[in-house]
Amino acid sequence: MNTITGKAVVAGVVGAPVRHSLSPVLHNAWIAEAGLDAAYVPFAPPSDGFARLVHGLRGGVIRGLNVTLPFKEEALALADEASPRAAAAAAANLLVFREDGSVFADNTDGLGLLAAFAAQAPGFSPTAAPVVILGAGGAARGAAAAFVEAGAQVRIVNRTLARAEAIADALGRVSAFPLSRAGDAFAGAGAIVNATSAGLADEAGLDLPLEASPQGCVVMDMVYKPLKTPLLVNAEASGRRVVDGLEMLIGQAAPSFEAFFGRPPPANVDVRALALAALEQKS
Ligand code: NDP
Repeated sequence: MNTITGKAVVAGVVGAPVRHSLSPVLHNAWIAEAGLDAAYVPFAPPSDGFARLVHGLRGGVIRGLNVTLPFKEEALALADEASPRAAAAAAANLLVFREDGSVFADNTDGLGLLAAFAAQAPGFSPTAAPVVILGAGGAARGAAAAFVEAGAQVRIVNRTLARAEAIADALGRVSAFPLSRAGDAFAGAGAIVNATSAGLADEAGLDLPLEASPQGCVVMDMVYKPLKTPLLVNAEASGRRVVDGLEMLIGQAAPSFEAFFGRPPPANVDVRALALAALEQKS
């Protein structure tokens, strides 16, 4: 256990709810291994209390915050300055509080997504074939922005077509498909990324024509509880490579850690094992 003194650097995660967040597990394991005088703590303001929290933290009371549901869009709107990738995603998962009182917004979810592909689907190239993203909410838009930035052609498939079209209009190099035409979007795809919340809360998941995608298509699910979602189970059963949402979560945490503590996380901590153990306890 590292010692926390009066000089400790404090960062945290804010969400509603936040009690199931794995971020404190990841960051505090890295802090301990690096021997930092630091702490990473959860904040759970009421759903109308996020702006007050951010206002109160201006001036560097704490170093920064990761932001999760439902505050990511509000986080971007409250910031004084934003990175191009946060602006493209129209959401921030990272706020940095500067000593001059200003707030800088960034979005590391896209970095996490690409890192997850690099770790679990080595050799995958976003420019080799179109990337399909299922969903048109905040996570889908962030994923689309990251893949467009990486040079991909993106196809967004969504139940509500107008929301997919809005992302296509905003980002360019993105085409929109209704869910009923998922098979057309899958044809020739290099990857399929589920960024919908369908299947959560025991609701039935999406019934997708995976067979319409090439055998070499990589299938990714942002949902990580369960770790192997029905989509990933089906994809693996058909011989396709899969990438899970936990790897994305870890992938967004690493650049956040660097933004808070000025150094990359130590490489020799098996944070995936720690996160899996924490998921087990919560189930
Ligand atoms: P939103 O609520 O903003 O968007 C939800 C999307 O899912 C919409 O496109 C919606 O379609 C679609 N959807 C929901 N239910 C159904 C259904 N029954 N059938 C078809 N489509 C459906 O959520 P977010 O974008 O914020 O998050 C999406 C998922 O990604 C969540 O599960 C979240 O936990 C996960 N996530 C994981 C991260 C990670 O690090 N692993 C990071 C960020 C998010 P419509 O537009 O028609 O309503």
